[in-house]
Amino acid sequence: MLALAFPDDAFFARVKAAPRRLLMLDYDGTLAPFCVERDLARPHPGVEGLLRGILAQGETRLAIVSGRPLADVERLLPIGPPLELWGSHGWERRTAGGEKVAPPLPPGAPERLNRAKLLAEKEMSENLEAKPAGLALHWRGKPAVEVERMRNWGYAHWRPLTSPSLLELLEFDGGIELRVPSRTKGTAVEELLAESAPETLAVFLGDDRTDEDAFQVLRNKGYGILVNAQQRDTFASYWINTTDRLLEFLKRWDEIARKD
Ligand SMILES: [Mg+2]
Repeated sequence: MLALAFPDDAFFARVKAAPRRLLMLDYDGTLAPFCVERDLARPHPGVEGLLRGILAQGETRLAIVSGRPLADVERLLPIGPPLELWGSHGWERRTAGGEKVAPPLPPGAPERLNRAKLLAEKEMSENLEAKPAGLALHWRGKPAVEVERMRNWGYAHWRPLTSPSLLELLEFDGGIELRVPSRTKGTAVEELLAESAPETLAVFLGDDRTDEDAFQVLRNKGYGILVNAQQRDTFASYWINTTDRLLEFLKRWDEIARKD
């Protein structure tokens, strides 16, 4: 496995030299700590102020790209436009102008999701999260035996509803999710890149498996940065392994993007 390092001086020199910048950030596990009470997962102290500072400069296009529903992200990170928000793995968007957009789900997907939801409501309702383009079972903080029970339940009841184009089942850090796969965080990154000038320097920070879709899109077009205490096989170019280093990264970006 490639040994990844903290973004170096050469990286920040490119940030400084770039005529335009696009900074994309995952939310849970990246800007905010994991919480058993998911409604309380506010950003790490210092993060919100740094994001506001970077936005106020107007020298960086800033976007949050999360698997959570858009409404959750808006509530937990109450910064208005021009901060751009993507929720539900690219299925919901708030633009820099504040407009809300949600592409329609493919035909057949809502019916399958509804069936999966009815099944889960019978046995798993307290751990179930229903999202615009998916369902999640959350097991963070539960004993190992309960995690195993929930995982087995997910594979037994939800896997039969999957199909390559309509629904996929995948585990994330803290649970299992059934979701419509035709949009991902990678789709969100592709669309942001398509809207940006070609000379834009694009960077994505994320911690989890679903962030790899975004890292992969940026492989030759920008930089993925893995934010995780553990290194792993990844499409990311750099690694941030502590919250202090995340704050250091955002502070340095804030200083460097500032006009001289
Ligand atoms: Mg995350």
